[in-house]
Amino acid sequence: MDKLLLLGDEAFAQGALDAGLSGAFGYPGTPSTEIIEYIQRESDAAERGVKRDWSANEKTALEAALGMSYTGKRAIVTMKHVGLNVAADPFMNSAITGVHGGLLIAVADDPSMHSSQNEQDSRFYGKFAMIPVLEPSNQQEAYDMARAGFELSERFHLPVMVRLTTRLAHSRSLIVRQKILKENPLSLPGDPNQFMLLPAFARKKYRKLLEQQDMLVQASEKSPYNQFIDGPDHSLGIVVCGLAYNYLMENFLENECPYPVVKIGQYPLPEKMFLELRSRCNTLLILEEGMPIVEEMIRGIFGADGLSVKGRLDGTLPRDGELNPGLVRKALGLPLRESYKEPEFMVPRPPALCAGCPHQESFKALNKALEPYGSGHVFSDIGCYTLGFLPPFNAINTCVDMGASFTMAVGAAEGGLFPSVGVIGDSTFGHSGLTGLSDATFRKSNVVLIILDNDTTAMTGMQDSVIGGKIEAVCEALGVEKEHIRVLTPLPKEQDQNVQALNEEIEYPGVSVVIFRRPCIHVLGKRRKEGKA
Ligand code: SF4
Repeated sequence: MDKLLLLGDEAFAQGALDAGLSGAFGYPGTPSTEIIEYIQRESDAAERGVKRDWSANEKTALEAALGMSYTGKRAIVTMKHVGLNVAADPFMNSAITGVHGGLLIAVADDPSMHSSQNEQDSRFYGKFAMIPVLEPSNQQEAYDMARAGFELSERFHLPVMVRLTTRLAHSRSLIVRQKILKENPLSLPGDPNQFMLLPAFARKKYRKLLEQQDMLVQASEKSPYNQFIDGPDHSLGIVVCGLAYNYLMENFLENECPYPVVKIGQYPLPEKMFLELRSRCNTLLILEEGMPIVEEMIRGIFGADGLSVKGRLDGTLPRDGELNPGLVRKALGLPLRESYKEPEFMVPRPPALCAGCPHQESFKALNKALEPYGSGHVFSDIGCYTLGFLPPFNAINTCVDMGASFTMAVGAAEGGLFPSVGVIGDSTFGHSGLTGLSDATFRKSNVVLIILDNDTTAMTGMQDSVIGGKIEAVCEALGVEKEHIRVLTPLPKEQDQNVQALNEEIEYPGVSVVIFRRPCIHVLGKRRKEGKA
């Protein structure tokens, strides 16, 4: 059997390819980015013509994947957990339309917020939409679950979420490949109204989704990813989800775990397994990566009948952040293992813009132009430029979500702030800045909106930006006056001119767009190497 050493993200990608994938859609976001990057690199995918370009944002990606499923083909869509908020509209509705070809929604959560604004748990979304969720405990399961997920999706005609978390997504292990399947042929849904959510159809389809819930629970009872593993010591029962199973087992490398365990890899939860565990144990410990969703459900079901539930809610485990084998060990009451001290040569490396980054000169010019007005005027967005918050620049004041720079600048201007400046990157502008710009021109807001165009999605690793080459035309089409769309080059020798241009646009009582354009130094380096620059 073919074996490969893969990251969790890559294992899922390879699993999807081997299961007859026809298209992968997504927007880059750590820790999910490597799924599509892997499919883009694979020569098999290229030979087969698997579609695998980045999308403008998670919403458009999910809708494209749903469209591919409409044609009977197998598709995946990938995103990080906060990206699912952007895609929430088609996500919820795809549970009602159902799917034709298998559709997997791979969402990588980031507990501990290594590179995210929050640590929301996508399993809540899965429960909210009432669709099956698969949660691998290791790389092999990430690989296998792609195939199992497509089968489940096509069996119930529902999208299936595959929830990964950072540590699994970004760590490597050997996986054994299965037989490669052919792609599905083109076909149309048997019911021509399947994807038509007029209220009369939607009501019927929603009832069907409700009726399917018992079958989904039965499927979970029989799933190979859910197991009841008995143990001789019934003083404690353990419910463990996804990657947390690894953390549990790392504490029992020499001896078997003595406690009965319900291992969860497929949701909705397998009720019978819980009842079995409940019949043996009066104390349960719940181990799950992310938020206490299973713990809350168990407390809700059994809270009143004398069951003691331990987990994140009673302080047995921290309420936030990733789990790890040490935290699990403490929760089990086992003697703590001695750990090694960090070597002295390990020094903290605070995040910073790279030396020579074009954003540095943009922020210097902006700071200079804003000097007369004091601080508190700049609404920023998500990308490398968010580091402009840090010294020595201290150039931005907010970072809330993708696209919130332009829209917050508009709101602040309406609140009386002058000047009111929004700062966004080119890729983020394509993702969710366009609607904010549209609001600004519609309201004739007195704002300066700055697009830092470095010709890439730098923060996640230099993925293509779909707005490339179209920014000025888009701004004009959205109602910005041509003479107030300024393109500047962020270089030291241009600084006086740039400050002057910014001052002029600050003085203009309407919507100005200032584009600072210079490629990210890493993109430039890569292009030079390839002889393209
Ligand atoms: S990766 Fe590129 S855009 Fe990001 S900080 Fe470095 S040079 Fe700047």
